[in-house]
Amino acid sequence: MLAAAMIGTIADRAASSQVSSWNDDVLSPDHGAAHVEADGMVTEADGVLPDGVTVFDDAYPGISRLDRDLLEALREAARNARVSGIELHVNSGWRSPEYQDQLLTDAIAVYGSEAEAARWVATAGTSPHVLGTAVDIGGYDATTWLSQYGAEYGLCQIYGNEPWHYELRPEAADRGCPVMYANPTQDPRMQQ
Ligand SMILES: [Zn+2]
Repeated sequence: MLAAAMIGTIADRAASSQVSSWNDDVLSPDHGAAHVEADGMVTEADGVLPDGVTVFDDAYPGISRLDRDLLEALREAARNARVSGIELHVNSGWRSPEYQDQLLTDAIAVYGSEAEAARWVATAGTSPHVLGTAVDIGGYDATTWLSQYGAEYGLCQIYGNEPWHYELRPEAADRGCPVMYANPTQDPRMQQ
């Protein structure tokens, strides 16, 4: 997709990126998905998403391969957020195991060790993104809105260090979201 233009954009982003701002299973709009695509190893078929994709954009496997219940909850929330003039963008949704592996490889290079990278990026065997049960939402208005109202839709922030990463916890509509883990290394699902 738009290879030359994308690569130019990616180069600009890479030049302005700082190691300290690298985040998540990656994906602030600034790095993440675009960074991976620069390697030419994974594509939209692996779940890579261009900027500006919403929860309604079924044309992208990163959206269409999300868990149906999660996607329905996101769409219901997004319709109501729109009433307030806020659009829920998806920086990353479903990912192929190859895409997740690439993100982890990149993170290890950035952080210098597997242990430090594990604070931000899961393996292909443990990432809920590979299962289609997690999304990384942007931008700031959207995550702020979700932090206030997401629980009504069963949408919960799971990790304290990842305000963009949301998963479905249906019981949250009645009981509120579960207490967050400080970071993914404290999540029992990440233990192998
Ligand atoms: Zn995530």
